[in-house]
Amino acid sequence: MTKKYLLLIIVCGLILNAGAREKEGKPNKEGIAIDYLNNSFGIYNKLQKQIWSTPELGFLEVNSSAALQKHLTDNGFSIEKGVAGMPTAFVATYGSGSPVIGILAEFDALGGLSQDTVPYEKVLIAGGNGHGCGHNLLGTASAAGAVAIKKWIEITGAKGTLKVFGTPAEEGGGGKVFFAQDGFFKDVDAVLDWHPASENAVSVETSLARISIIYSFHGKAAHAAANPEKGRSALDGVEAMDNMVNMLREHIVSDARIHYVITDGGGLSPNVVPAHAEVSYYVRAKNVTELFEILARVDKAADGAALGTGTTVTKKRLAGAIYPVLPNKAFGKLIQKHLEKVGGVQWDEKELAYATEIAKSTNTSSKDLEKVKTVSPYRENKFGMLKSGSSDVGDVSWNVPVGSLVTATFVPGSPGHSWQNVAAGGTSIGTKGVIVAAKVFALSAIELFTNPALLIPIRQEFDAARGEGFKYAPIVPGKAELDYRLEK
Ligand SMILES: [Zn+2]
Ligand SMILES: [Zn+2]
Repeated sequence: MTKKYLLLIIVCGLILNAGAREKEGKPNKEGIAIDYLNNSFGIYNKLQKQIWSTPELGFLEVNSSAALQKHLTDNGFSIEKGVAGMPTAFVATYGSGSPVIGILAEFDALGGLSQDTVPYEKVLIAGGNGHGCGHNLLGTASAAGAVAIKKWIEITGAKGTLKVFGTPAEEGGGGKVFFAQDGFFKDVDAVLDWHPASENAVSVETSLARISIIYSFHGKAAHAAANPEKGRSALDGVEAMDNMVNMLREHIVSDARIHYVITDGGGLSPNVVPAHAEVSYYVRAKNVTELFEILARVDKAADGAALGTGTTVTKKRLAGAIYPVLPNKAFGKLIQKHLEKVGGVQWDEKELAYATEIAKSTNTSSKDLEKVKTVSPYRENKFGMLKSGSSDVGDVSWNVPVGSLVTATFVPGSPGHSWQNVAAGGTSIGTKGVIVAAKVFALSAIELFTNPALLIPIRQEFDAARGEGFKYAPIVPGKAELDYRLEK
């Protein structure tokens, strides 16, 4: 059979199938998108594994971004690349006119999490990167959903624009902040977002705002035994600051977080008074006002430490600081409806055996593994997966209504950013979660394209939550820190 003939049969089949569904009372022909995804497991299994196999850190995701761009270009999307000052960022567009629906795609990996796809800990490359947050799946499902929606637009001739935002460096670089800063969400009506997890759920919840600051202390070098009176230790400055902040943390609101690492300890020899030392801080809080209040106190601790140790301190607030997520209940309920329609993930025997083996490493019961088959009840108004975390989806959500879900791509009981997640995410278990997310994206977007009036309550809730006169400005304006993952 020639390829052309085979294609003709498939297209006819799709049209007939869509026609049959229409008779069943589904005039929006959403079956076109669902059938495409049902028939494309192999394509997306390959694409996610390709990204999984070349795990790249934030702003360095050259291959991962290119793989997604190629798949979208091959499927008729036009691509604008290197946007918002980030070489690996892109916007893929299909269709025209309104409404404009966006989909977020992430693809960066984590350092030090290299792991094979086996159900026990096995490093592939010592010190190498790994997809411990499942962003290989995240970008893939977003592309899969987008192509499915595009097939539907193509066949139905529906009006509207679909945009995939290829957003780099979610892990610490805040790629989406620069899209927001450059106005990429201005003309977008709604944005769909998802994250890999170990359950299928819609949680309309917020997250923590986050800022990253580098404190550099400058002292005077001297022989530590012969001329100690001439030296001023920059490391003393860092230690005094850290001590004060550790006392301060008892007297801040309980859902805020402060953490630090000493990135420059001041030298290699105890007999030289360190002239330079550096400490890198994260401050997190549930809103931007509290974030700045705590930040001002941490800054004072730095100033006090410098004063007391006879050193000086410079402070650098890194661009890419992020807002807390602004939840949207109306959007969440719409997504939940479609997630329930799609249902959970069905593992075959081999996948279940693999998951059972991984579950042993976290003392998770076989009963807990059953969770992946089901859809969790709709949740709102409480801290959930992002309880003590932050995401650059936050900045998007203050510019345009964002609706999010999670699907079961990992083995229940596995911690976030773990070898267990790298392993499972690189297998067909991960791909099954991808297909669920892509189907929910497709059904949600198709409903919004078919019935744009549904965007009105979503927008109203968004406007009310932002408050009158709200004007978005990034917490720290500036350019993306493109080299933040490079060894300096
Ligand atoms: Zn992560
Ligand atoms: Zn993540």
